[in-house]
Amino acid sequence: AGDVKTLKIDDTPLPRSKNLDVISEFEKSKSKKTASFVVVGHVDAGKSTMMGRLLLDLNVVDQRTIDKFRKEAEKIGKSSFALAWVLDQRTEERARGVTIDIATNRFETDKTVFTILDAPGHRDFIPNMIAGASQADFAILVIDAGVGEFESGLKGQTREHSLLIRSMGVSRIIVAVNKLDTVNWSKERFDEITDQVSGFLTATGFQAKNISFVPVSGLNGDNLVRRSENPAASWYQGPTILEELENSEPTARALAKPLRMTVSEVFRTMQSPVTVSGRIDAGSLQTGDALLVQPSGEKAYVKSLQLDEQPVDWAVAGQNVVIHLSNIDPIHVRVGDIICDPARPVPCLDTFTLKALAFDFLMPMQVDVHRGRLHSAGRIEEIKALLDKVTGAVTKKKPKIVKPANVARIVVKLGSKVPLEAGQRVVLRSGGETVAAGLLE
Ligand code: GDP
Repeated sequence: AGDVKTLKIDDTPLPRSKNLDVISEFEKSKSKKTASFVVVGHVDAGKSTMMGRLLLDLNVVDQRTIDKFRKEAEKIGKSSFALAWVLDQRTEERARGVTIDIATNRFETDKTVFTILDAPGHRDFIPNMIAGASQADFAILVIDAGVGEFESGLKGQTREHSLLIRSMGVSRIIVAVNKLDTVNWSKERFDEITDQVSGFLTATGFQAKNISFVPVSGLNGDNLVRRSENPAASWYQGPTILEELENSEPTARALAKPLRMTVSEVFRTMQSPVTVSGRIDAGSLQTGDALLVQPSGEKAYVKSLQLDEQPVDWAVAGQNVVIHLSNIDPIHVRVGDIICDPARPVPCLDTFTLKALAFDFLMPMQVDVHRGRLHSAGRIEEIKALLDKVTGAVTKKKPKIVKPANVARIVVKLGSKVPLEAGQRVVLRSGGETVAAGLLE
C-alpha cells in the first residue's frame, strides 16, 4: 500500500438538509429583483469613468476615496482618471484575493440589486466580455459623441462588441451617448448618433423596442443618476441611465430547470478547503445537497452557502453565490467547471454541432472555443450546411466556406472533453479575432 496517497479531503459528517422547497421559499422571500449587466464600447469611450461616477453618485464609494484617487492621478498628470480607478482598484483587490465578495461592483436601488459584470478596462477585454455577456441580463453600450470619435468607434470595437453581446443572448441594450459636454450638448449630434446606431443595432438583431438612448456626461454625472442641470441639456427630459436600468426586465430565471452553475473562483476559507463562487445559471440548491462537478465527475456536498456575505439556506438561478463544499478533493474543482445536479448532469463533450453566425470567413480551421469563462483549443471539422438566417432551413449542403454574416451548421472538435450542452452559447475566435458565435444544437 506504499503508493496510496493521503488526500486532504474535508470529510466531516455530511451536512444535514432542511429539505426546503426552494422555489416556494424564493417566492415567499420577496427578495429584491436581481439584474446583471455588462458595459461595452470602444476603448476610451468612457466606460470606466461612467461606472465610477455611477458608484460615486449612488454612494457606493465615497468622495474621500475619489479625492485620494484624484491626488494620485494628479501626480502622474492624469487627474481625469480618478473616477475610472474606482473600478480598476476594486478589480485589483479582487485579483489579489483580498476579498471573497465575488460581486464587488454591486449596487442596489429600492427595487433591484445590480451587478456590473467584469469591470471594463482589461487589456484582453474580449474573453472577459464573452464571460460577462454570457451571464448578463442587459448591456450598456458607451459611445463617445466627440467629433470624429463616434465614427472611428463604429468601425472599431462598437460593432464587434454589439455583435458579440447579441450572439451571447443579451437582448436589451442601453446606449449611453457619452461626453456630450465635449459637443456642447448638441441635440443634432445626439440625433445623428441615435439614427446611425439604431440602424446598425437592429441589423445586428436587437429589436427596436429593446434599444434606448440616453445622452450623458459620465465625467460630470449628467443623466446617470441625476438629471443634467446644464441648460444646454434641457432638451432631453427622458429617463436617466439608472431609470433605464430599473425599467429593464431581467431575463426570466430558469428556476425549475436542473442546477447549473459555472465556477468563477475557487479558494480556501475557514469554512472549507474548497469554497467556490459563481452565478447560478439555472435551477436552485440548498445546504446538504449533493452536487456533481464537471468535467471531473466528482461528487461534493453543500456544507453551507453565502449570499452577499450572509449565510443562507438556499440560492436560486440569477444569484451570485459562495458555496462551501465538503467531501471533495480540491484538485477536482477548477475555474470554469460546471457544478450541476447529479441526477441530471451536464454532459462532457469533445465534439459538438453549432448553429453559427459567421463574423469572418469560416472553413476547416483551428479555433479557440469560448463558453462563458471557459476556453479551449478546437477545430472546425466540417461545415454541414448553410442556413437561412430567418427560418433556419438548409439553403446549401456541405459548402467549402462560410462568408461573413452568413449562418451555418458546423461541427467543432475539441482537444479534450468539456461540459457542454444544447442551448449554450459559444464564441469561436482565431488569431485574437472573433470569427463566429452561435448556439449549441
Ligand atoms: P474606457 O477606456 O472606455 O474605460 O474610458 P475611460 O473611462 O478610461 O475614459 C477615457 C477618457 O475619456 C478619460 O480621459 C476620461 O476622463 C474621458 N472621459 C470619460 N467620460 C467623459 C465625459 O463624459 N466627458 C469628458 N469630457 N471626458 C470624459
